[in-house]
Amino acid sequence: MNRVLPHIAQLHGYVPGEQPQVPGLIKLNTNENPYGPPPRALAALRDALDDRLRLYPDPTATELRKALAARYDFPPDQIIVGNGCDDILNLCVRAFCGPGDRLAYLWPSYSLYPVLAAIQNAQPVELPLDDQFQIPAHPAWLRQLDRVRLLFITQPNAPSGVWLPRVALQRVIEETPGVVVIDEAYVDFAADNCLDFARDYPNVIVARSFSKSYALAGLRIGWAVGPAELIRALQKVKDSYNVNRLSQLAARAALEDDVWLVDSLRRIRITRECIHDALLAKGFFVFPSQTNFLFARPPAPLTARRWFEALRADYRILTRWWDADRIRDFVRISIGTDDEMNKFLEATGAILEKA
Ligand SMILES: *Cc1c(COP(=O)(O)O)cnc(C)c1O
Repeated sequence: MNRVLPHIAQLHGYVPGEQPQVPGLIKLNTNENPYGPPPRALAALRDALDDRLRLYPDPTATELRKALAARYDFPPDQIIVGNGCDDILNLCVRAFCGPGDRLAYLWPSYSLYPVLAAIQNAQPVELPLDDQFQIPAHPAWLRQLDRVRLLFITQPNAPSGVWLPRVALQRVIEETPGVVVIDEAYVDFAADNCLDFARDYPNVIVARSFSKSYALAGLRIGWAVGPAELIRALQKVKDSYNVNRLSQLAARAALEDDVWLVDSLRRIRITRECIHDALLAKGFFVFPSQTNFLFARPPAPLTARRWFEALRADYRILTRWWDADRIRDFVRISIGTDDEMNKFLEATGAILEKA
C-alpha cells in the first residue's frame, strides 16, 4: 500500500530562496528589509521575555486585530491574523477551494500558488500575463475565470514588481464567481493599494505581510481583511494558536513605529530607483518596480543564469533566478543597503565586461 496520497507523492514542493548558513554573503534573494526590525518591535520583544511565555497566546490576536482595524478603518471582525501571509493563503485554499475545484492565479507570479493548488488537489488554472506582464483582460482571457472558486493575484505583482492597473483588476474581480485574494505582500513600497476592493466587493480579500515592509520575516506575521462572512470562514479553519505571543506583541509595536516605517520605505524606494536607472544605463531591461526588488534582463551575450551564478560564485552576492518558462531570462534582485547595492553594481559591471 502506498501510504502517501498519490497527488502528494507527485508534488514538487515550494522552493524557498536560500537562507545561507555561512556568514558574509550579501543577501539580495528573498526580499527582506535591510533596515529592520523596527526598534519598538525589538523593545516589545525584550519586555515580553518572562513567565508569560508559559501561557498560550490569544487565539485570535484581538489586540493586534484592533490595532490593524483602527489603522486601516475596518471593523476588527473583518480582520484575521496569520502565521505569515503564507498561512493566510493556505487558509483561503482550505476554506474556499476543494479538490477538483478551479484554483486560478496569474502567471508569472508567486510560485507558491500552484503548489497550494497541488497540495489541495485542486485544478490549477494558469492565467497568462501579456509581454509586459500585465493583465490582457480581453473577453477570451476573462472566460478562463468561469467556475473559478479561488483566484490569487499579487499586487504589485511578483517577480516582475509591476503595478497592475486597478481597472484591469476590477474586470477580473467582476468576472470571478469565487473568492479573489489580492496578495499585497509588497504594497507598502507602492504608490497605491487595493484595500478599498475588500470594502466594495463581496468576494475580495486583501492579504498583507509584516515580513517585507516591517522587516519581521523571522517572526511570521501576516493578516487579511475582507467581508465578515469570508473572514469568519478562515477563522474556523485556522490552527487555534496560529500566531505566537511574541509575534503578536512585536507586530503591534511595529504598527506604532511610524517614524521608522516611513524612513525605511523612503530609503528603499530611493535606492530602488537609483539601481533601476544604473542597470538601464548598462543596457539591461528592467521592469518599473513598485516593490522592494527589481526584475532585470541582462544584455546579450550575458545570460541571466550566468549573471546569477557569477554573482554568487565570484562575489558572494545572492539573487534569485528561476529556470522556468517566461522568466528564465531575468534575475530578481532584492533592494539592500546602499553599500550592498554598490557592491552589486560593481560586480555586475565586471561580469558584463567578461561576458
Ligand atoms: C513574501 C511573500 C508572501 C509571504 O509573506 P509571509 O508573511 O512571509 O508569509 C506572500 N506573498 C508574496 C507575493 C510574497 O512575496
